[in-house]
Amino acid sequence: MAQLSDDCFAFGGPLLSVEAAASLIAERVPVIAGSETVPLWRADGRIAAETVHARRDLPPFANSAVDGYAVRFADLSAAGETLLPVRGRLAAGGSPAGLSAVGAAVRIFTGAPMPAEADTVFMQEDVRIEGDRVGLPAGLKRGANSRPAGEDIAQGAVVIEAGRRLTPPDLALAAATGHAGIAVRRRLRVAVFSTGDELAEPGAPLGPGAIHDSNRVLLATLLARLGAEVADLGILRDDPAALRGRLSEAARAHDLILTSGGVSTGEEDHVKAAVEAVGRLVLWRLAIKPGRPVAMGLIGSTPVVGLPGNPVAVYVTLLVVVRPLLARLAGEAFSPPLPQPARAAFRYRKKTGRREYVRVSLRRAPDGTVEAVKFPRDGAGVLTSLTGSDGLAELPEDATGVEEGQTVAVFLHPLLW
Ligand code: AMP
Ligand code: MG
Repeated sequence: MAQLSDDCFAFGGPLLSVEAAASLIAERVPVIAGSETVPLWRADGRIAAETVHARRDLPPFANSAVDGYAVRFADLSAAGETLLPVRGRLAAGGSPAGLSAVGAAVRIFTGAPMPAEADTVFMQEDVRIEGDRVGLPAGLKRGANSRPAGEDIAQGAVVIEAGRRLTPPDLALAAATGHAGIAVRRRLRVAVFSTGDELAEPGAPLGPGAIHDSNRVLLATLLARLGAEVADLGILRDDPAALRGRLSEAARAHDLILTSGGVSTGEEDHVKAAVEAVGRLVLWRLAIKPGRPVAMGLIGSTPVVGLPGNPVAVYVTLLVVVRPLLARLAGEAFSPPLPQPARAAFRYRKKTGRREYVRVSLRRAPDGTVEAVKFPRDGAGVLTSLTGSDGLAELPEDATGVEEGQTVAVFLHPLLW
């Protein structure tokens, strides 16, 4: 975009770095109280409100990892085959009471408890049957194919840390260690507005100069993926009084308010002034591209973030700036995802002093290296640059650009959600 002024200092003062914004948010924003206990089936993606400990050892008892024959290692000959009588049979769910492997092999199946004295299991494929005896080859190690009690996790050990965003494997581990439910933080209630006189509802006929509102769909669905309970509060016209009224009203019933559009420095940009009028501004204008015009404030104790209007800027600022804020409110122990390194197959110039996110796709180069290919169009309004890319390459503040062959850090889209 042709630009005459030095944007770092245009419109008053330097821009706030993304890092500084994150610390301001951490300082000013409280964790929302409130939790509920839900069955494990319903806890995927929720934030653990308690630290969960194993109620018992996992596995709770020593058991066989294979179908075969359980023996006492001490009964085996090191030199050659050992022939042992087969005594007893133990299937999964069976009881080993009264069975002993002393001087004998016990027929055993996967998951069955190890009989008294047995410490080693031969796979059925590896043995030779001779009448009611079994021939066991030499060479197996003591303890082979036997899973000791507590091998996975010991009773009392931490299964899930408070603040963790729960995943299906976490919930499986909680089930395996004796739990049926878990206390989780209550969902954040997030109000979403769009602002702009040009906006029409998706599917509505378009008058002259009108466009369909796409930011609300983007925000509402991303927020739902991030675990929020979203209230869609519609489109606000570029009318200062209406903005003030609707923002104060929304602040009373929600944990967070997000708006898009109207936060730049134009004559029709009223969101920042509305936040200042009914609350107080915490930050405005970030050193980030796309997404510079971001305003964050508090109305009462409810945070409100005015995101830019351009859809790609909305996407980037939601995931880079609002994501940590959501985590803070929800009591989530959040660490940003680790980027995937990729070799840049493009050259790019940038200004220092701001962090940039470049939309890229990944491909495997003929030499096997993963390469990042830049989406051909950069505009902050180009939605197809999101649907047509695999992720965002993050270029740090001090970088002046990217040279072909240089390694860049790529955040794949789904990792950011
Ligand atoms: P603004 O910051 O309000 O000047 O908006 C910047 C650009 O984003 C303009 O081209 C707007 O039409 C566009 N825009 C604002 N809000 C939305 C929205 N909800 N959906 C799609 N585009 C939008
Ligand atoms: Mg606008």
